[in-house]
Amino acid sequence: MTRHLTLGSAALLVPIFIVFAAQSKPRPPVKVFISVDMEGISGIVHGDQTTPGTPEYASARKWMAQDVNAAVEGALAAGAAEVLVNDSHGSMRNIDPDDLHPQAILISGSPKPLSMMQGIDATFAACLFIGYHAKAGTEDAILDHTISGSVVRAVRVNGLELPELGINAAIAGYYGVPVVLVSGDTAVCRQAEEILGPEIVAVAVKEAYGRLAAKLVPMAEAREKIRMGVKRALEKRNAVKPFRLAAPYSFELAYHISAQADLGAMLLPQVKRLDARTLAFTANDYLEGFRMLRALISLAPAR
Ligand SMILES: [Zn+2]
Repeated sequence: MTRHLTLGSAALLVPIFIVFAAQSKPRPPVKVFISVDMEGISGIVHGDQTTPGTPEYASARKWMAQDVNAAVEGALAAGAAEVLVNDSHGSMRNIDPDDLHPQAILISGSPKPLSMMQGIDATFAACLFIGYHAKAGTEDAILDHTISGSVVRAVRVNGLELPELGINAAIAGYYGVPVVLVSGDTAVCRQAEEILGPEIVAVAVKEAYGRLAAKLVPMAEAREKIRMGVKRALEKRNAVKPFRLAAPYSFELAYHISAQADLGAMLLPQVKRLDARTLAFTANDYLEGFRMLRALISLAPAR
């Protein structure tokens, strides 16, 4: 009985192996995830341009779509089969779906569980950050802030102060996805290289004088730089490692003023108050830590 079964199983295994080998040959389609913020978009130098309801916003949201479309074109040129674009600024309804490249898929609106990283998962080959900006407290950086300009002075994870690009790259890293390109001003490009390493392609579309003025790369040239940068970054994506910090994750959130730390310290027993303006907590899972960070920012009154 045993011998008979063994022979039967072996006979079955051969065709199964052949079928499996044939199916595993074609490589899976390359999926690219784009998170797009607004402060680092080509042409933008002021908060009036990134705020709905102002006369300048209508132009700025078009510029945002055009920077993203350049990135989508670069991704398609590098062989991407699917490009997912997550609108990641303010209301997250900045890109008019009519303005987006017809081959890209848009995630629009807010709030979302993963905020600027909504839509990312382990099926993506690479992640791009378009229109990103430097962390709060950076000199010569257009509209520098971290998550919330009126609430957050600094975010540190495992002792390392992170701009949004670092906080979000660790979410991509959670899923094993590398961030291969960042676009924005020269300051955010510098921070991207410092945190994510020299292999990242950093595309500077402006150089700031202070917080509210910059020398702009001509718009058509800026978009061409993004298009070519994305293509190059995706072609060498295997050289870039996913960004991962070591667990357990120790988070610190420094607010601008002490009143902003009060509710978090009063309501959440797992939170420690390090000083009047700083709360701390630990998470074993990075996404849980990220959710707690957002909750603590949401509990704080604006300055
Ligand atoms: Zn923004």
